[in-house]
Amino acid sequence: MSNIDTCDSCGKRRELWHNESTGLSFCEPCDMQAWENYAEDKGLVEAPAEDVQLLERDTAGLRVTLTYRPSRNDCLLACATSVAQTDRVVSLESAMDAFHHPMLYLSEACVAELGVA
Ligand SMILES: [Zn+2]
Repeated sequence: MSNIDTCDSCGKRRELWHNESTGLSFCEPCDMQAWENYAEDKGLVEAPAEDVQLLERDTAGLRVTLTYRPSRNDCLLACATSVAQTDRVVSLESAMDAFHHPMLYLSEACVAELGVA
């Protein structure tokens, strides 16, 4: 149901949407704003934070990528060669070091699997 009337929020005459839970009638922008505020209050809008690939390099057949994972607040160091790939979680503090010296952060078994010296 919508009709032209005075918005309870901004006072402009617009097409209004009646909000059952508040009993107020808002225009569309106000209604959206109200919903956003409500959702934020209730912690409903926990934007699913996407993982972000920060860095990538390719050295002598070894591809190293560093991905920031906001949901865990850590980074994922991934190393791949043509034959294998492995990854490990690193803290934010050691992320840059891990990216530049990935072999120091991978287990011997992983390094052996990758087939790099
Ligand atoms: Zn309004």
